[in-house]
Amino acid sequence: MLRGWQIGRIDGARPMDGGWEEAVTDSGVHQAGLRQCAILAGGLGSRLGALAAAAPKPILPIGDRPFLAWLMREWQRFGVEEFVLLAGHLAETLRAALPEIEARLPKPARIVVSEEPERAGTAGALFHARHLLDERFLLCNGDSLLDTNLSALLGAADPPGTLGRMVLRRLAATGRYGVVTLEGEAVRAFRERPERDGPGLINAGIYRFERALLDRLAPRGSLERDVLPLLAERGELRATVGEGYFRDIGIPDDLAKAVAEIPRQLRRPALFLDRDGVINVDHGYVGSRDRFEWMPGALAAIRAATEAGWHVFVVTNQSGVARGFYDEAAVAALHGWMSATVRAAGGTIDDIRYCPFHPEAKLDAYRRDSDWRKPEPGMLLDLIRAWELEPARCLLVGDQESDLAAAARAGVAGHRFRGGDLADFIKPLLAARGRPMDGN
Ligand SMILES: [Mg+2]
Repeated sequence: MLRGWQIGRIDGARPMDGGWEEAVTDSGVHQAGLRQCAILAGGLGSRLGALAAAAPKPILPIGDRPFLAWLMREWQRFGVEEFVLLAGHLAETLRAALPEIEARLPKPARIVVSEEPERAGTAGALFHARHLLDERFLLCNGDSLLDTNLSALLGAADPPGTLGRMVLRRLAATGRYGVVTLEGEAVRAFRERPERDGPGLINAGIYRFERALLDRLAPRGSLERDVLPLLAERGELRATVGEGYFRDIGIPDDLAKAVAEIPRQLRRPALFLDRDGVINVDHGYVGSRDRFEWMPGALAAIRAATEAGWHVFVVTNQSGVARGFYDEAAVAALHGWMSATVRAAGGTIDDIRYCPFHPEAKLDAYRRDSDWRKPEPGMLLDLIRAWELEPARCLLVGDQESDLAAAARAGVAGHRFRGGDLADFIKPLLAARGRPMDGN
């Protein structure tokens, strides 16, 4: 019955109060709270031949689940709650796979299918979904995956007049691909395959767009060939360079590699963080932003864990709800803002569990023992189940004995934080349990 909380849209974020260790702007927090991602899922998959004859590429099995389930799971780590699947070729087969995909997602999601009326191209697919898209939305290819810190895209600030931001990958040899020319963060040009096979930047197929882009689209067209070059020419397109593991499942060899690599690559170690006394200074029953003070180094610690490829989860007893100091809506609002602020600062909180119950609660509805209340391990066990974690590859950082007891009962190594700079405390722990970051 208790699913923790879901991230809401971060509207009307106020300027921050004192105690901030980094200059995270109000608009930065606002835009880091993106909730919608459109996924291009209508390609013909002709380079895969027979492999893609019966199913669209994005639902081809990778290990025990469709490729899309892996891709969407990654976006959920960064706060996406709604997916708009841009379908075309074999759309009915795609629809039929949705229950299997949903069953594999670690968080609830809204999934909408937009079906193009005819072969429309990548820009056309977006045009036909325009009634479904937010003021600002994400878009990605449904047949490739870049394992990177997506907060760099979510939190980046754009100058006025920008219509989009794309993620680029740095390659040592760009021979097979068209390359992108940058000036600072401004995309200046797209060039077809260069004459010489040298290092360069290529399109990773991940974008953040303003809704105003949709006014420029026609019912048919290609994003890559028609739209992006025009935006670059007009100075309306920016880029973020993303490092990390990349795999495109568009050709049989690479599909085989994806099957071998992706499940291992995306099964991450996890860092569980207690909240009060670890992420924020424990002022006692903190239920609102005006009483929330970040612990020194907290944002940097979370960013370091995200950068190193770890999941970050928050597990927090919130008996302030049971005691009637604040309600669950206040907890959800505070956590939504906290997560958006973390993303604006370049990290992410993948998921949160809190326990509002207490055996001596003032409010009847919350007066009970709960196996979610630390030192019981319920919150950790629920995250371990939902995110398919290996406890032996997880760490917990807490400031109380009850945190360490909950960790031990879940089979997770616990570490006691006694104040000071959280990044200084956590970085050596992450390094000691280093995760090999596969590049290619
Ligand atoms: Mg605590």
